[in-house]
Amino acid sequence: MKKKTYLLLLLTLVTIAGCAQSHRKERLTEQQTGINNSMQYNTLTPEEERVILHRGTERPFTGEYLENREAGTYLCKRCDAPLYRSEDKFDSHCGWPSFDDEIKGAVKRIRDADGQRTEIVCNNCGAHLGHVFLNEGLTSKQTRHCVNSISMKFVPAQSPQSATPQKESLTTVYFASGCFWGTEYFFMKAPGVKQTSVGFMGGHAENPTYEQVCRKNTGHLETTEVVFDPAATTYEELVKLFFETHDFTQTDGQGPDIGSQYRSCIFYSDSAEKATAEKYMDLLTKKGYRVATLLKPVSVFWKAENYHQQYYEHKGTKPYCHKYTPVFDD
Ligand SMILES: [Zn+2]
Repeated sequence: MKKKTYLLLLLTLVTIAGCAQSHRKERLTEQQTGINNSMQYNTLTPEEERVILHRGTERPFTGEYLENREAGTYLCKRCDAPLYRSEDKFDSHCGWPSFDDEIKGAVKRIRDADGQRTEIVCNNCGAHLGHVFLNEGLTSKQTRHCVNSISMKFVPAQSPQSATPQKESLTTVYFASGCFWGTEYFFMKAPGVKQTSVGFMGGHAENPTYEQVCRKNTGHLETTEVVFDPAATTYEELVKLFFETHDFTQTDGQGPDIGSQYRSCIFYSDSAEKATAEKYMDLLTKKGYRVATLLKPVSVFWKAENYHQQYYEHKGTKPYCHKYTPVFDD
């Protein structure tokens, strides 16, 4: 009982402190909701509080959702009320996410004290969102809700196959191990791999064709793009599979395919991937192998012509150039 009283006192003190800092907002909140139950709202970080409760502004061109073009809904960071739809988002080049419409009844407009600008707040909880500007000629609705990213929470639209993981939770990595038909054959069958494509990486020509790469004057390597779900497999597993499905000691090509475009190479996207690749190269060297695999930073991936994609799968045969040979079995 005592504890409860103490908590109540604390709550009251917090509420009073909040009011002192932002009189108008807390009054509005009470008006709008009828109750001042701010403790039921989402917990905010100090930076979120600065913008949402104390009507601050995030630095332009820094917000999380400025460039977001995904379909979905933007909710209030404080109370989760839906505020804006992705269909109403447009690129205003002002440095903050811009919408030319709101979800009906979700946003309240308040004229600034100086009469210069019109503040917009969440109609449910009073959270500060930004400002609204009219008649700028940017869209047919002549309205620009200029909203701080930090005041919102984006929820992507549910795809029809809601069981498939969201794109941003997938990781894309690149391996070259000779003829890409054979490389892709093994990666597309690996557990946790969602998608594969074959193409070219590491050269200097723009949009090279298969023929150009074969003539060996573009510098590209036949490369397989592997998109995997990190919840279902790891980069380590894929690196192991890479080494176990080709001859990583061959320097002039791969198997019967001779030429620089068939060289063994891991293209890394960050220092973690590089470290993982190096770890397994060291391990193989310690096992006595002379590792010929190159280690290069990721560059532009040029997708190859359609008839190269999932080649063996469409043909219904097995690769001549790649086979599975375990080397990490101990
Ligand atoms: Zn709200």
